[in-house]
Amino acid sequence: MNFNSHTDGVVAVAVGLVNALTEGEARGRSYEPPTGEARAAAVAGVLATGDRRAPTVTEAEAGALAEVAGRLRGVFEAVTRGDVDAAALTVNGLLAETDARPHLDRHDGEPWHLHFHGAGGTLAGNYAASCATGLAVVLGGELHDRLGVCTAPHCDRVYVDTSRNGTRRFCSTACQNRVKTAAFRARGA
Ligand SMILES: [Zn+2]
Repeated sequence: MNFNSHTDGVVAVAVGLVNALTEGEARGRSYEPPTGEARAAAVAGVLATGDRRAPTVTEAEAGALAEVAGRLRGVFEAVTRGDVDAAALTVNGLLAETDARPHLDRHDGEPWHLHFHGAGGTLAGNYAASCATGLAVVLGGELHDRLGVCTAPHCDRVYVDTSRNGTRRFCSTACQNRVKTAAFRARGA
């Protein structure tokens, strides 16, 4: 299932930034996000999922995106508790602050495609605008409930459900397997 290829890419980046940069729990353990150089490297890794090449990310840009990631997490959490109004308000706030604007671009031999750039032209500003726009496209469509927070115990990593029937509940196969194994043990006991 696809929103469109660029939207899918930036929504995947939003998921990656939230999961890499916000504290909480991940796959059964407490999660402390990296700082300094490690945080910049983590952001570069996430952005490489949306772009072909990993961009150069400064520590300042990684810090700016960590702040954005905290607010993006709020969008996933609001949708999960059924409060789409709160999710929409947060996304509208980010769209306004980042001055997100659509822009057709053509580079590296690709056909024209839509980018969502922000004011300022910084890497962090552009990705904040892109992520906000990607989530806006999801929230504004019929698949607006496809943003989720993992339901496995001791995990609060987020995901976007791109399955055909929309039945995803976990951030990863690791969490899915943890829950399956626990249920199997409970039946055996
Ligand atoms: Zn999980």
